Amino acid sequence: METMKAARFDTETTTMEVTDVPVPVPRPGEALVKVAACGICHSDLGLIEGYIPSPLPAVTPGHEATGHIAALGAPTPGWDEGDPVLMAAGRACGRCADCVRGHPMDDCLNPEIMAFHYDGAWAEYVVVPVAALVKLPREADLVNYAVLADAVSTPYAAITGTARLAAAESVGIWGLGGLGTHAVQIARMLGAAPIIALDPIEETRARALEVGADHAIDPRGEDTVRRIRELTDGRGLDVAIDGVARSATVPQANAALARHGRLVLMGVSPDPVELGREDVFALSGHRVLGHLGYTRRDLERLVRLVHHGRLDLSRSVSEVLPLDRVHDGVRHLAEHEGTPVRIVIRP
Ligand SMILES: [Zn+2]
Ligand SMILES: [Zn+2]
Repeated sequence: METMKAARFDTETTTMEVTDVPVPVPRPGEALVKVAACGICHSDLGLIEGYIPSPLPAVTPGHEATGHIAALGAPTPGWDEGDPVLMAAGRACGRCADCVRGHPMDDCLNPEIMAFHYDGAWAEYVVVPVAALVKLPREADLVNYAVLADAVSTPYAAITGTARLAAAESVGIWGLGGLGTHAVQIARMLGAAPIIALDPIEETRARALEVGADHAIDPRGEDTVRRIRELTDGRGLDVAIDGVARSATVPQANAALARHGRLVLMGVSPDPVELGREDVFALSGHRVLGHLGYTRRDLERLVRLVHHGRLDLSRSVSEVLPLDRVHDGVRHLAEHEGTPVRIVIRP
């Protein structure tokens, strides 16, 4: 049996080690992909720190990956060994009411998430459904393109799909890590005005201004909501994207909305969140929208936007590390060392 290197996280002992495991075998409808690059995401920290559980006894983390098709479980029209691909980090459960009726993958009622429900890509090889693959241009830089599959696609889907941001609407973005920094770029590309970026770390605020924010604010200030109103001609925000979604940020983002504004909860946190008095909330007409992930169509659109120069990923990768240094990457992200946008593993 062939073996490969993979980072294995033991959900009982909450320890992770890079070890030799069998190379997985794709079934019909699946592809074995030789991983070229895979990002380290805050939700990987959520797994490692225990607040985003995996139902498996052990799992390979990593859900933001590119690579080349190494084998197909069955001959599949349009796909060949060697094709460069981006991988959507989800698969249909195959058992829910919509899956049983044969709806496409994006309609599954209980989608399974790569690196939580099945093995991810902090490994030399990964098996994913062919339905999760997006073909990349031959000349694509697979390290840069890897960050599309979450750090760019999740804010893209949150802003275009869930918030339905229109040109000239005002937007506030809480949290300027990997997702938030790209949220600023996407809001800029779509013509939002003004764009107000919020983060307690000064370097990340400076970076947000460089990639397209009009204003950058430390949200810990007591007058944060008043300042947002001033910067939006006294109206408040049309759209708030909360990439942190902690009990401190959600009420603030809600309070900063204009009448009928939309608050999108893009972050993943274990916190209870409060919307305040119901009579005040009802009168505000605010809409609070949960958001997770993206569709394969979002990835296809982002590949086009990057390929045609509309979206610049040249600053998206802060550090590239080999697989056996994945612990260093996790620590750098957890401790904000070098205030990374994305740290990428090259297995
Ligand atoms: Zn992620
Ligand atoms: Zn399903």
